[in-house]
Amino acid sequence: RPRPLVAGNWKMNGNKLSARVFAAIIQGYDAALRSKVELLICPPATLTVTFGVVAVGSGVSVGGQDCHVKASGAHTGDVSAPQLADAGASYVIVGHSERRADHGETDAVVRAKALAARDAWLTPVVCVGETRGQREGGNALDVVRAQLAGSLPETANGDDLVVAYEPVWAIGTGLTPTPAQVAEVHAAIRAALVERYGEAGAAIRILYGGSVKPDNAFDLLSVSHVDGALVGGASLEAADFLAIADYY
Ligand code: 13P
Repeated sequence: RPRPLVAGNWKMNGNKLSARVFAAIIQGYDAALRSKVELLICPPATLTVTFGVVAVGSGVSVGGQDCHVKASGAHTGDVSAPQLADAGASYVIVGHSERRADHGETDAVVRAKALAARDAWLTPVVCVGETRGQREGGNALDVVRAQLAGSLPETANGDDLVVAYEPVWAIGTGLTPTPAQVAEVHAAIRAALVERYGEAGAAIRILYGGSVKPDNAFDLLSVSHVDGALVGGASLEAADFLAIADYY
């Protein structure tokens, strides 16, 4: 079973005072927790350098929330994977549903971003997940399989790729799928990864994301083929984030 990863996506929240929250997360990452679970925080781009410095030697990883497909050039307002790596990141989220919706990112763009991340020695966290309408229409598995087929890189060796299943209707809503629904989708993702990458597919971590809180962490994270969480709102409070990680 892969080493679990509990990741926090801070989205467009936080300022330089938030380094205190990050420091509290680091402080809470004691030997007991360290032996069980890996922690990652993905702050807004403005804080990557600060958090990267604070994280040195802590064992807590820092990641980006998005990267451009190119390494450098005339792309005003964008941040590249090598820039994130230079700032201290070791992961980057790509294809979050908010990027897909707000910026029209297609599966092909998400795949190109995952490859750009790899080229910069960052581990991409590729996000997939169905909308409410797609689930109600009975199409959740087909949608997720199609997103995987279009968004994942050609190759993976296991620890150079993370997949996050985030049902869009569960993000920021307080709604969550049932453990049975999570199990069904995660099993389908695992099957797709093994089909695509062979044995390495069994080692790729599949995170669940969408309204993960301390009080539902047990129900969601104990499901088979759930290898960790991608936490939004609850990652903004050190105590909540640590309580979720403490499930392990
Ligand atoms: P919430 O935990 O706030 O629902 O956000 C989930 C998410 O989108 C993480 O990437």
